[in-house]
Amino acid sequence: MSNRIILTSEERDHVKLQEVKEVLKSIPGNFFTYEPKKKLDKLFIKWTHGDVPVKNDFFDSMNEFRHQDKLDSSDYLIFLTSRKIPGGFFNGIQFQQKNIFIDLENWERLYLKGSPDRYPIAFHVLISVLINHYFSIEEKALKALHLVDKGCILDFNGHKNKVDLKILTARICPDCLTTLLENNPDTNLLAYFRFGIERIRQDIVNGEYYKKIAPKPVRVYLKEAYNKRTGYKLEFDGIGDLDLDPICLTVYLNFLRKKKEGIRLHKIDQDYYFLLESYNKFTRLSDSEEEAEEIIEDLLIKEEKLKKQTITIQGNPPQVAREISLYEAAIKILNKESIDPKLKDNPKVKSAIEVVSQLKKENKAAERRKIKKKKNEKSISKLSKLKIENCQFKEFKNNALNEKIHLINEELSKLLGTFGLQEFYRIEDRGREKFGVSSEIEFEDPKGLIKSITTKIEKLDPIVITK
Ligand SMILES: [Zn+2]
Repeated sequence: MSNRIILTSEERDHVKLQEVKEVLKSIPGNFFTYEPKKKLDKLFIKWTHGDVPVKNDFFDSMNEFRHQDKLDSSDYLIFLTSRKIPGGFFNGIQFQQKNIFIDLENWERLYLKGSPDRYPIAFHVLISVLINHYFSIEEKALKALHLVDKGCILDFNGHKNKVDLKILTARICPDCLTTLLENNPDTNLLAYFRFGIERIRQDIVNGEYYKKIAPKPVRVYLKEAYNKRTGYKLEFDGIGDLDLDPICLTVYLNFLRKKKEGIRLHKIDQDYYFLLESYNKFTRLSDSEEEAEEIIEDLLIKEEKLKKQTITIQGNPPQVAREISLYEAAIKILNKESIDPKLKDNPKVKSAIEVVSQLKKENKAAERRKIKKKKNEKSISKLSKLKIENCQFKEFKNNALNEKIHLINEELSKLLGTFGLQEFYRIEDRGREKFGVSSEIEFEDPKGLIKSITTKIEKLDPIVITK
């Protein structure tokens, strides 16, 4: 069962109390529960020494509160106060009773002007409980605390303006690790404290401390690159190129073009045509296809002409001279059939051979493209969670898209490092079921590839899935 940490304050400090509680509750783990008790109006501080309370006045009031609220003796009671405490005290512990008070004032001036003071306050709640939990009496604690600061959470820090060092290191020094584990060998409990104080340190440094150098997105360009197998590259301005294979480049391009609206992953089927056209482009299918079709047509016309043009073959007696078409002559020579050897040097026959063999070559290439096209369709339909059967689209649940997203994100982390820049570019849940990159990034497509693809596919009907 977890120990309770009761956080309390007078009414005037209730807002701060709530803020500090939120920081503490964000620490995962079940060793402690944090409960705010706001009804401390009735906790009036008894002044025993003139106008201002002294340390014991706080503790006396807290003990009264314990009694009134029937707190358990295992409960930690934390009193957060903005009242001026004499003698420079900002944090006090009454060990046996588990009462702790912490000053709420002037924390924000410490490590960075204007940064939220809930973090150093929550930090002190945690280390006060740690000290109280591990050292049952004050004398033992005083013996363990470092009177000379060494950047350990057990630095005594007589003055509040000295606490920066321990907050920003959040370190438990080796001596203290040994001492704490001697007092309580539960490594998980000490790990909980360490994680908690480290978490608060991280919140400080990530949230406020280094705000001035928070990463800003850079412009991304889709550029042609003849040295890449895709023929294109994604260039991150001032950083370098993202190295993606054709299918990952296809997926990422779709997310880049939809950076504002995002993509619902289960509706990816509607992007099938865009994905297919991009993929054909990045596998260099579409370029060669259009060009090659023209070449084949041209060659076919030439071949037809060759079938009509004739040439005379001189017959060796007793054979007589006869006429055959240039086409036939070319075929005979290509098939190494016996024919008048002089024909081979005839310029008309030579160019006929060239036409016939080029057409053969182009037809073979067309056959290969046909296979590649089928393969591309299969890959992209799978990626779009579709299956093509009898020229109809059917639903096909599979993990291909998620796998590609994972690979893309890995490459992004490699290129953009771990300092936070990749967060803008990663494909992730951006809320409301939509996945994508940050809408803050700037993406440019100077060659207009996206426009040319969308123009090509805009007349196509939306994908209809048959059951
Ligand atoms: Zn230490």
